Amino acid sequence: MRSLSIFGATGSIGEQTVDLLLRAGGAKTHRIVALTGGRNIARLADMARDLRAEIAVCADPSGLADLRERLAGSGVEAAAGTSAIIEAAERPADWVMSAIVGAAGLEPGFRALRHGATLALANKESLVTAGPLLLAEAERHKARILPVDSEHSAIFQALVGEDIAAVERIILTASGGALRDWPLEALARATVKEALAHPNWAMGQRITIDSASMFNKALEVIETREFFGVDPDQIEVIIHPESLIHSMVGYRDGAIMAHMGAPDMRHSIGYALNWPDRSYLPVARLDLAQVGQMTFRAPDLARYPALRLARSVMARRGLAGAAFNAAKEVALDHFLAGGIGFMQMAGLVEETLATLDGELGHENDAMTLEDVQAVDHLARIRANERADAIARRQAGER
Ligand code: NDP
Repeated sequence: MRSLSIFGATGSIGEQTVDLLLRAGGAKTHRIVALTGGRNIARLADMARDLRAEIAVCADPSGLADLRERLAGSGVEAAAGTSAIIEAAERPADWVMSAIVGAAGLEPGFRALRHGATLALANKESLVTAGPLLLAEAERHKARILPVDSEHSAIFQALVGEDIAAVERIILTASGGALRDWPLEALARATVKEALAHPNWAMGQRITIDSASMFNKALEVIETREFFGVDPDQIEVIIHPESLIHSMVGYRDGAIMAHMGAPDMRHSIGYALNWPDRSYLPVARLDLAQVGQMTFRAPDLARYPALRLARSVMARRGLAGAAFNAAKEVALDHFLAGGIGFMQMAGLVEETLATLDGELGHENDAMTLEDVQAVDHLARIRANERADAIARRQAGER
């Protein structure tokens, strides 16, 4: 029986993974090793009971008593805290879903690779912050990383049976997010609620706002560079508002292989779960006659400055990805808290990167997990300082 763990089980990706697992027979067909959550103790306990997990871990230590109580008599072990999540990742499992949001998702995935697990990687931050490190670890332990991000799953599928040397370009599609049709000058006033109104995808809060700012696409461009090993100038981004083509690979003979389907993350989660087989998935089938037409347009870099920043991060490589991601997470926290405006996020990230210039190094091979964590920490301090300076300046202007 195949053994599985899900990190970030209570989130959007985690829930959809659990849904597919339950449809596939749940505990009757799989041995569930670990399920982890953050603060949603009730949901974590329900899932752990339904799937008869060996251990359920919540990141929030104050939730432990509640988790224990909810799991009493179920035979499921309860634990809490970041170190307990890391320990859970050290329990061998054949297939591990990495779906914790943010930089917190890096270490559990990294640890899972050490026991040779197949790592289904939704946590895009892992490759952005520590791509060379993660890939080397996978190779060292003969572990496999399968992409779960819909764009990277699409590229992965469009590459099946092909030679990567024949790839001319990779074209990432982007919905353009909730604010894509707003006048440029109105974006500065966009609220959290407005940025959360995604036209196509139902996702977690943070990635939905990152989609509106295209910080999400910026992460995906870097993720593409790391995962597929192509040059940055081979990666293109195109806005495709219908989100029916999930990405494309262009070959040197001019052919383009596109992956299509309804915008439903269970496609790529299910592909990673069933790989190398294709099994039935309960997702909507596309009716192309009803779709009628699909549209595309080039992204405007004034509207989406995060795309420009991604290029400079790729040019630097090394620890620049870790600094970029940490600064982006802090900028998002401040936007969510109302401290900075929507269009100020990119400026905050850019200024933070500038303050770190000279401290990031260029060596990819020498990168360690501790280096990544140190740069992440430093970038958060600098980004918070920048955000406080913006808040003071704005208070002075009022
Ligand atoms: P959600 O915010 O919905 O869920 C995040 C999960 O991580 C939850 O289980 C949450 O717990 C847990 N969590 C939050 N903070 C911590 C922490 N500090 N330590 C441990 N666990 C924590 O995120 P998504 O499911 O949307 O996204 C997960 C990852 O997948 C992200 O990296 C995202 O970029 C990526 N992704 C998501 C897609 C989507 O469609 N949602 C598409 C492609 C990629 P709790 O809720 O209990 O607090």
